Amino acid sequence: MQITEIYKSLQGESTYAGLPCVFVRLTGCNLRCTWCDSEYTFQGGRRMALEDVMQEVQRLSPRGGLVEITGGEPMLQEREVVPLMQQLIDHGYTVLLETSGERPLAHVPAGVIKIVDVKCPDSGEADTFCLENLEALNPRDEIKFVLSSRADYDFARAFTHRHGLAGRVNAVLFSPAFRKDATGARDSSHCLLDPQQLAEWMIADNVPARLGLQLHKFIWDPALKGV
Ligand code: SF4
Repeated sequence: MQITEIYKSLQGESTYAGLPCVFVRLTGCNLRCTWCDSEYTFQGGRRMALEDVMQEVQRLSPRGGLVEITGGEPMLQEREVVPLMQQLIDHGYTVLLETSGERPLAHVPAGVIKIVDVKCPDSGEADTFCLENLEALNPRDEIKFVLSSRADYDFARAFTHRHGLAGRVNAVLFSPAFRKDATGARDSSHCLLDPQQLAEWMIADNVPARLGLQLHKFIWDPALKGV
């Protein structure tokens, strides 16, 4: 499979935020979200065999733990990444799959925890979510909306209600988008949508979702890669 990087850091998003985690970042994406902070994954990378990826994960985290399969869009390499996820589970790892929601997820191994994006209008990739994926969700999975405006918030709130997301998954996450050229300050000044504003909307509407901040961007310089 084509890999951009494998590294160990803290998980920055989802209900697993704050836990040590090995990230396996696959190369390539078929979407172009306006605020994407992973454009360096669109090309390049190196070919790695499944055994080499396993070896690297085991070197970084020899006693099991959390592994996130991410990208880019990892499910573009479904043929290789599905056996990788299964093998990680077989070796006792807790496996998260971070995916845009555009690719079918029916063949993701049952033990994998899927963190599935639903792209909002201001991402420039609205309507890319594969609705059949709602049927592939299980109660351990999480759905994430990255928001940069009130229009995005209204879309996310309506989608959450229309599809009863809170009853389908472990968590529905509303997360403010970060400016992709953010650098320097490790605070919310780089958010395209003020977290305080988002929090106030969520409280007022009693939305069945949790506010998610990208923890790693408050710990390290937001421009840093590999953290
Ligand atoms: S799906 Fe993810 S990697 Fe692809 S463009 Fe959007 S944010 Fe970037």
